[in-house]
Amino acid sequence: MSLTPYEDALEMVLGSTEALPTEQVLLWQSLGRVLAEEVRSDSDKPSFDNSAMDGYAVRAEDLKPEGAKLRVLGEVPAGGEWHDQVVKGTAVKVFTGAPIPKGADTVVPVELTQQKGEYILVDKPLPKGANVRLRGEELKEGELILCPGTPIRGYEIGIMASVNKVSVRVYQRPKVAVLSTGDEVRDLGEAIEKPSQIRSSNNHALYARALELGCEVVPLGLLRDDPEEIARLLEQAERYDVLLTTGGVSVGEKDYVQKLVREMGFEVVFHKLRIKPAKPVLFAKKGKSLLFGLPGNPVSCVMAFDLLVKPALLKMQGIENCRPPLYKATLLRDFQRKDAERREFVRASYREEGGRLVCDYSPKTQSHMLTSYVGANCYLVVYEGVKELRAGQEVEIVPF
Ligand code: AMP
Ligand code: MG
Repeated sequence: MSLTPYEDALEMVLGSTEALPTEQVLLWQSLGRVLAEEVRSDSDKPSFDNSAMDGYAVRAEDLKPEGAKLRVLGEVPAGGEWHDQVVKGTAVKVFTGAPIPKGADTVVPVELTQQKGEYILVDKPLPKGANVRLRGEELKEGELILCPGTPIRGYEIGIMASVNKVSVRVYQRPKVAVLSTGDEVRDLGEAIEKPSQIRSSNNHALYARALELGCEVVPLGLLRDDPEEIARLLEQAERYDVLLTTGGVSVGEKDYVQKLVREMGFEVVFHKLRIKPAKPVLFAKKGKSLLFGLPGNPVSCVMAFDLLVKPALLKMQGIENCRPPLYKATLLRDFQRKDAERREFVRASYREEGGRLVCDYSPKTQSHMLTSYVGANCYLVVYEGVKELRAGQEVEIVPF
């Protein structure tokens, strides 16, 4: 069977993925979720003309190049009111956020004034409107502020609070189940009884990655390579939006996941990609549920998650721009490989240096070396047919 190119696999995954239904939550609960409605301004913003400074509200025409002496009628704090008119030759003391009294059109900052009894002296003129925040200058009532598909950060929480959004409609969190398989794997804290047994990292890494992406994650634990046990959990796939399995998707005798998926009526969309590592990735569907059979090698497992599962989880949450981004950077060290058949994603790090991005890669290029992620923040992409990259060359990276 020929290997599926990465782009094709990604399009097949996204073509099988739909945005989830939406739900109404309280404002604070929407943090980290994705907006599913338009947010509009409940009023003009600012809703009244007000002062941008502590100072004096005046008529600009009263300020003269030779200086001005204005009688102070009183003061108005933020949250206060002033009912009289500012007429020729007068001023009202205002504080930041205070409404501009009628008749005034300009605020002279307190630093530019001298107080003389009930008068102030102002040395020079200011342009009309200086230091006044005009009603509606930021937003008009009903104006669109946030669109559906916007990820909600602290900033958006503040913006929505400012227009009195008590509750907000967001996309549901994808329900993701994580299951690892393998006779040799032992979970966190379990006794290692034989030198051939290894500590499981995959189920924990996937659990955490899915949590980081805003999912509701159900840990299904670790199973031995036992077809009956594995089948029992695969039967429950439709309870979840996404079922992630690790291990058992290669062509070995004990690779039951891939065998069972076929036998149990899943629609296998692809199995085996032209990528390195993570070649044996399997993607299947049952009803609306997606199954990603990820390889057991720890790097392959998380890398396949980043490149294929993450875009699907973002799309489910209503994010349009869900494909992994590609940046350009200058490579700092030569890279060589023997076999250029597959597209390789090498753990790397990039940073800004002298106005450009530079990139270096981890010397641990093999798929069992999870510590290649220490300090990494991107994948260096080595395209099909490329055996060598040179220091100083522009390369493509996928930041994460
Ligand atoms: P498999 O995909 O089952 O052929 O496993 C490939 C490699 O990944 C083997 O060396 C396994 O021991 C290792 N492996 C499988 N499952 C896990 C796991 N949950 N955590 C860490 N390594 C694993
Ligand atoms: Mg195995």
